[in-house]
Amino acid sequence: MDNFSKQLARYADLIVATGVSVKKGQTIVLNIGIDQVELAHLIVKSAYLHGAKEVLVKWQDDIITRLFIENTTDLKTIRPSVILENDEIIAEKASRISVVSSDPAAFAGVDSQRIKERQQAVGQAMHKLRQATQNNDLSWTVVAAASPEWAKKVFPELSEEDAHEALWQAIFRSVRLNSDDPNLAWQKHHEFLAQKAAWLNQYQFDALHYQAPGTDLMIGLPKNHLWEGAGAINSQGQSFMPNMPTEEVFTAPDAKRVDGYISATKPLSYAGTIIEGMQFQFKAGEIISCSADSGEAVLKDLIQTDEGAKRLGEVALVPHSSPISQSGLIFFNTLFDENASNHLAIGAAYSFSIKGGTEMNEAELSVNGLNRSQVHVDFMVGSAEMSIDGILTDGQHIPIFRNGEWAF
Ligand code: ZN
Ligand code: ZN
Repeated sequence: MDNFSKQLARYADLIVATGVSVKKGQTIVLNIGIDQVELAHLIVKSAYLHGAKEVLVKWQDDIITRLFIENTTDLKTIRPSVILENDEIIAEKASRISVVSSDPAAFAGVDSQRIKERQQAVGQAMHKLRQATQNNDLSWTVVAAASPEWAKKVFPELSEEDAHEALWQAIFRSVRLNSDDPNLAWQKHHEFLAQKAAWLNQYQFDALHYQAPGTDLMIGLPKNHLWEGAGAINSQGQSFMPNMPTEEVFTAPDAKRVDGYISATKPLSYAGTIIEGMQFQFKAGEIISCSADSGEAVLKDLIQTDEGAKRLGEVALVPHSSPISQSGLIFFNTLFDENASNHLAIGAAYSFSIKGGTEMNEAELSVNGLNRSQVHVDFMVGSAEMSIDGILTDGQHIPIFRNGEWAF
């Protein structure tokens, strides 16, 4: 085995052991691009070594998806067999592994109206599986793999081969693959983030006040909100790691109490388009205006997806000194870029971000301030100039972030 294949095998093992923490007799669903055959084989092999019953591989092909969206005569219908299979996956409590390697511009130039229509149809059909995933009824993880097209975006100055290799190495560094025992390194990282979450939970802040150049925003937090870092526990009590990398500690905002303005600090890759220079104005939780230097039409379509797409569903804290931020790279991929920076999400909140939330129905979540939507799109707002205060119900301000770093 050459050195790269060895690294890839270690990565596959990290995904299986820490990502979804495969247990004996489990079914695994692996979503992975057709450009990642070697990694797919290694993940499948590792999953069986960890006792999996069956690994279902769902191959993703952006070109075929693009051809479908551009040409189909029916964007609205989802095959019943897809929905049936989702029900089986939920009933079996199968673990889901998603490997993202897409070209960030895979859908650039496709009619955004057609993309939106298809995403609505898929969003509705996937509703139950998305709920089960967001509720942590099953274990799930999202990880990345380098494709040549993606690598070219991140390292435009390098040759295709060098860029591909450089992106792989950046991914490996960001998931702590170079430490002696990556699974142990993740356990320690998890404990650090859990400490931060515990401190924030103890305060139960009524609101957060964000200040930075181009930003002055108050974000209300719902009663009994829960901050959470990195690791998660599924409904059977098994731990898993929803995202690798992850550097964030996050909770849900009160969807009705967001006021002021905020500027994004990194480009957003959404629906195959790169949106740059975004600015948002909020009133009583709603985005009342937004603009972007490029990709503005796609941004405006995004916030029109449904009622919830005009409101926030996540507030996440990430120090500016995070390894991904220090790499100085823009990955044009949310999994990485969100872990470089404080971020917010447009759209749905996670039901576990509030005490008792996983037992609440949609209406109850909404009443408790947790935004409901078909979309959940993170955008980055952090910088070395950002300060965040926690505001207690008695009006007292407690520093949480100063100059982009944890203040406690
Ligand atoms: Zn996040
Ligand atoms: Zn998010």
